[in-house]
Amino acid sequence: MRWESGDRSNIEDMRGGGGGRMVPIGIGGFVLLLLLSAVTGKNFFALLGSGDVATDRGVGTTGTVNSSPAEERLVDFVDAVANDVQDTWSRVLGGRYQRTKVVLFRDAIESACGFAQSATGPFYCPGDSRVYLDLGFFTELSQRFGAPGDFADAYVIAHEFGHHVQHLTGIDARAASGGRRGSESASVALELQADCFAGVWGHEAASNGQLTAGHVVLEPGDADEAIHAAAAIGDDRLQKMATGHVMPDQFTHGSSAQRVEWFRRGMDSGDPAACNTFSRTTH
Ligand SMILES: [Zn+2]
Repeated sequence: MRWESGDRSNIEDMRGGGGGRMVPIGIGGFVLLLLLSAVTGKNFFALLGSGDVATDRGVGTTGTVNSSPAEERLVDFVDAVANDVQDTWSRVLGGRYQRTKVVLFRDAIESACGFAQSATGPFYCPGDSRVYLDLGFFTELSQRFGAPGDFADAYVIAHEFGHHVQHLTGIDARAASGGRRGSESASVALELQADCFAGVWGHEAASNGQLTAGHVVLEPGDADEAIHAAAAIGDDRLQKMATGHVMPDQFTHGSSAQRVEWFRRGMDSGDPAACNTFSRTTH
């Protein structure tokens, strides 16, 4: 995988701590934004995260970021992948796509979705439309889960942006109404679709040949890294690692085979329409 450093405009660096992502708008401002959003159907909270406001908020961060050169390189990498992924979705969805940021944190963070620790892994928070990531996860992925490689890391980032796409298009809200559990649940369908969406980006990254700042170009063999990672973090594999058993009724993300299959579908087709994981249970 080849990539070029960008301007880090896709990153919100909270590695230095600073008390989470409290936006100083007060409850009155909050209610106003809520009303505006409700009346116009536009997400005015998203404005808080864009441009100047986000920069201002960075000033409020009390902690300093202690970062090694290797870590700084990773930050650039995450920014380039996030940028490339978001450019892809802007092309696919046009005006429906709203850009967001990856919030980098260390150990723990307070998000709009509550307090989260690094152990939970990277996640997407629909409440503030942000992707949350502790860079230490990449070490976990390569050492504990045995899935090394930059495209394995990129797949994880693209998967989280897949959840952002689901949020923007309302797929997540529609899925929330299903009552089934385990391998047949809406949760699994959403996760497999996010894998497929990561593949859709992979397809794009593999086909655009010219490398520019903040972009990514895939090389032969990269897809295998992602497929390996998808297999490594399947529910059956994780359950077996943790308990020695496989319990399909407790699946939340899908089996290794399913995760690989759906990533491949996106990667091969480059078409989000190929990612209908919800029809999977009715056919
Ligand atoms: Zn997910």
